[in-house]
Amino acid sequence: MLKIETNHSLGQYTTIKVGTIADYFAVLKSKADLLEALAFSKKNKQPITVLGGGSNILFSQRIKGLVLKNEIKGIKIIEKNKTRVLVEGLSGESWSKFVAFTADHKFYGLENLFLIYGTVGAAPVQNIGAYGVEFKDSFHHLLAFDLKTGQEKIFSSADCHFGYRDSVFKNKFKGRYFIYSVVMSLALKPNFQLGYGSIKEKLAEKGIKKIKIRDIVNVIAEIRNGKLPNPQSLPNSGSFFKNPEISKLKFKKLQQKYSEIPSFPGQANKVKIPAGWLIEQSGFKGKKFGPVRMYEKQALILVNEGGASAKQVLSLVNKVKAAVKKKFDLDLSEEVNII
Ligand SMILES: Cc1cc2nc3c(=O)[nH]c(=O)nc-3n(C[C@H](O)[C@H](O)[C@H](O)COP(=O)(O)OP(=O)(O)OC[C@H]3O[C@@H](n4cnc5c(N)ncnc54)[C@H](O)[C@@H]3O)c2cc1C
Repeated sequence: MLKIETNHSLGQYTTIKVGTIADYFAVLKSKADLLEALAFSKKNKQPITVLGGGSNILFSQRIKGLVLKNEIKGIKIIEKNKTRVLVEGLSGESWSKFVAFTADHKFYGLENLFLIYGTVGAAPVQNIGAYGVEFKDSFHHLLAFDLKTGQEKIFSSADCHFGYRDSVFKNKFKGRYFIYSVVMSLALKPNFQLGYGSIKEKLAEKGIKKIKIRDIVNVIAEIRNGKLPNPQSLPNSGSFFKNPEISKLKFKKLQQKYSEIPSFPGQANKVKIPAGWLIEQSGFKGKKFGPVRMYEKQALILVNEGGASAKQVLSLVNKVKAAVKKKFDLDLSEEVNII
């Protein structure tokens, strides 16, 4: 039987180590647990909030209803032909374990996404991406449960409306579904994406010429570990903001004023500006506000030295947004889900 706790503290379950209290809380280990939780929610008219690894969530107020911590795990190969393989991950599985499984089997496509925190089920929510690769590039379909009706629904890629750190699960269907499993379509031959970050340089440094998938995974791990603060020693939730995408015209105007402004191609002919640069130029890199600050090595990451409240985090978030707006007339939007 599912153990449902009351007035449960949530901070420990988020990588930024900030949290409030949930009215009800349960850990799911199986589909049966999920169905029991859905029945509880329906019977007691309690809304559900889904929690994966907590690496992209800020709990900012008391959470009404039932918080479900997803630990439904499993990985399996479901179909293979001459060129591709379908691999299914249950949604509470660690994303990095899932990527490691595919790399061990020499299934290609996810290697650049190694070591992104969190669970398989959260990966489609914001279409995770790193080093020139996005989740959607290898996505096949997913199975979700409607949190209100309990009905199952299969989502194809088109149904998910993937965008830059975006999907239907952050918009039209925000909070509506429990993603139960995800199926990825991976190639049996490599097509490595080496053009982003310092992947090529790192491989060259190591003298690797005949590149294997494990080399990429190792190099990605090395780059990420060197650059990003480990939430276990310095609590954070990765990039706090999205990189703003602006029109070419607006970019040209900004370039006239700030000739050194960095950019890279965005979606639909737009130009993406690194939010970290905007934050740094606005004077926030490394500047402390009580226990919180924008990280000195990467200004896009908001770190909690310990003991920060949601109010302190949001106060810094609002300060940063206001300063970037004032200096560049650009609106930053949060990548982290503020609940
Ligand atoms: C140090 C660090 C580095 C990071 N680097 C990157 C990066 O390079 N690229 C990148 O894209 N992200 C990055 N992230 C962000 C984070 O790793 C991803 O967003 C990840 O997918 C979040 O997974 P999670 O399980 O922790 O989700 P959570 O934080 O638990 O949840 C995130 C959102 O998804 C919803 N959700 C979770 N599981 C489900 C489910 N099964 N069904 C329905 N909704 C669900 C939650 O309700 C919430 O709204 C980083 C985070 C950290 C801390």
